[in-house]
Amino acid sequence: MARCVYCGSKAGFWSKVCRDCQKLWARVRELRGQVSYGKFLDGLEATGVAKERIIAFLQADPYGKGSIQDQVTAEMASELMQVMGLKGSQTPQEVERIRKMTEKDPKQ
Ligand SMILES: [Zn+2]
Repeated sequence: MARCVYCGSKAGFWSKVCRDCQKLWARVRELRGQVSYGKFLDGLEATGVAKERIIAFLQADPYGKGSIQDQVTAEMASELMQVMGLKGSQTPQEVERIRKMTEKDPKQ
């Protein structure tokens, strides 16, 4: 039985991603770029997936491209910079760097 690459729960034989995380991914695709981060989280909670699962999903980085949380934050920051007429854009890596400087996560 394979484990979900995002939350670590059982994903089934044919999939690397469990049903809950597939549901969350579908929602992320819908919401991304459309709403604020607060609304984004509300939208994910509206799927009925448990909150701990959502958090695990957002913070997972199975492909080393930055967690979904950092990717979405980077997109929102980049958009905001454009709206304000600033050049450049944020990358998930940059968001992660800033986040790690500003928070003390005992796991890291
Ligand atoms: Zn999962």
